[in-house]
Amino acid sequence: MRILARFWCLLKYHDWEGCKCRICGNLRDEGHTWSGCTCAVCGNGRDHIWSGCTCENCGLNRDSDHTWSGCTCTICGRNRNHSWSGCKCANCGLTRDHEHNWDGRVCRVCSVKWMLRNTGLEINLSVCGLFVERDLIDYARG
Ligand SMILES: [Zn+2]
Ligand SMILES: [Zn+2]
Ligand SMILES: [Zn+2]
Ligand SMILES: [Zn+2]
Ligand SMILES: [Zn+2]
Ligand SMILES: [Zn+2]
Repeated sequence: MRILARFWCLLKYHDWEGCKCRICGNLRDEGHTWSGCTCAVCGNGRDHIWSGCTCENCGLNRDSDHTWSGCTCTICGRNRNHSWSGCKCANCGLTRDHEHNWDGRVCRVCSVKWMLRNTGLEINLSVCGLFVERDLIDYARG
């Protein structure tokens, strides 16, 4: 019986179950059992259906067509390079402790304050003219 079945396979009358012949294991390019964008039976892939940076079918991410909110993609969470203008990113408004625009001890841009490390002492640089090593400075927000 099994030999007879193989004979039919030779004549290309396969006994298809989805994309695979249940007798000889031959594969065809139809009847795939899609799990996302990959056939669970034969491992073949189909084209992703991109919606922005994410495939609607399998959830795969690609590094294009992101939906940027500032510097972060709202879909996949990927970050792009910040566009620093002094201490503040022009795109997303994030601030860094670098290149502040000091007005005394308060930054004009991000309004961070600085103080001497471990002292809690706030010193107005422009008034006292003190030179302070960068690693002696703590930054305080809020
Ligand atoms: Zn077959
Ligand atoms: Zn398949
Ligand atoms: Zn996909
Ligand atoms: Zn994205
Ligand atoms: Zn940014
Ligand atoms: Zn600043």
